[in-house]
Amino acid sequence: MDLFETIHETEHEQVVFCHNKSAGLKAIIAIHDTTLGPALGGLRMWPYETEQAALNDVLRLSRGMTYKASVSGLNLGGGKSVIIGDPAKDKSEELFRALGRFIDSLNGRYITAEDVGIDVNDMEYVFQETSNVVGVHQVHGGSGDPSPFTAFGTLQGIRASLQKQFSDETIGDYSYAVQGLGHVGFELIKLLRAENAKVFVTDINQEAVARAVELGCEAVGLDDIYTVDADVFCPCALGAIVNEKTIPEFKFKIICGASNNQLADDEAGDELDKRGIVYAPDYAVNAGGLMNVAIELEGYNSERASRMMRTIYYNVGRIFKIAERDNIPSYKAADRMAEERITAIGKLKLPYMGQSHRFLGRVRNGV
Ligand code: NAD
Repeated sequence: MDLFETIHETEHEQVVFCHNKSAGLKAIIAIHDTTLGPALGGLRMWPYETEQAALNDVLRLSRGMTYKASVSGLNLGGGKSVIIGDPAKDKSEELFRALGRFIDSLNGRYITAEDVGIDVNDMEYVFQETSNVVGVHQVHGGSGDPSPFTAFGTLQGIRASLQKQFSDETIGDYSYAVQGLGHVGFELIKLLRAENAKVFVTDINQEAVARAVELGCEAVGLDDIYTVDADVFCPCALGAIVNEKTIPEFKFKIICGASNNQLADDEAGDELDKRGIVYAPDYAVNAGGLMNVAIELEGYNSERASRMMRTIYYNVGRIFKIAERDNIPSYKAADRMAEERITAIGKLKLPYMGQSHRFLGRVRNGV
């Protein structure tokens, strides 16, 4: 593999390979783009089968963070880090402190957070070596579980989508099919039921389903969720559930949920567009988690977090406007909106040069 060619193709600014033998650390930090601000993105620990698989993952995920931050109006760039290792067996204080020192050596160009395989206790060790961490314990000013905010942000995306499809955003006048009743999905159904909406639910966890039924939701089978006669489909469990098999079954008019990578491929997004189904791009809808940790950089405040979640309504609305302006499907319009903002802001100032993130008294929403 030609490493520099790969980095060039994916348009990354910097890729750092971190190695510490005594700590057993093999990690990669990828900084995709810092035009808008320091690169922020989670730390993932995974037993990758090959180093190439780890590199591919970190390059893909860090690029995704650039787009998510940009579309969300944040003054942040995109980054991500991965540790090659088994989270069940290979964790240690030395490991996380060794990585923390590498992160610190980047002088604020990369800010890390929790991701798959990492918990708040691991972050405590990273935090001992660098202050360029968000999602730390609440005793250090951390923001805690972002899920209620992500659910609230998803509701704002739903309102924008109702407005687009029905020129009306009365949540309670429409019906919803919620797939997944975990941290985000369950909070979302509470918000929907608070507006007296009709809500269909499904989950492999029958206990969660039973609790949802107590709230007045109607339970359906795992595969039946795709065929339910509801206005809005809210995926809050899995990726790639919008695909060539499920789309022909949809009676939905809108797809708007929290799960990542909902479209199996670009063709799925094109097909929704052809059928007149409004698709609210997932990474704009579920940005609540990122917004929540971004606020930590200026001193966390849950009221401010709620206010920032409301901007998701405007962000999703703008995506629909760009889709209309350029006559393209919404999933492409989201990317275009992110790229246009980076280009426009990039003309104003030099790339972020590595000051402490404390200067980010300026992380703010774009509205
Ligand atoms: P979670 O693990 O708490 O919940 C997922 C739920 O989906 C669980 O209840 C699980 O039983 C259920 N599930 C799994 N397989 C299923 C299936 N085949 N059919 C139906 N249900 C199934 O996760 P979460 O934190 O609620 O996140 C949900 C999604 O939103 C994920 O894709 C996550 O990446 C994304 N997301 C979450 C946040 C956040 O703040 N938590 C932020 C951004 C994106």
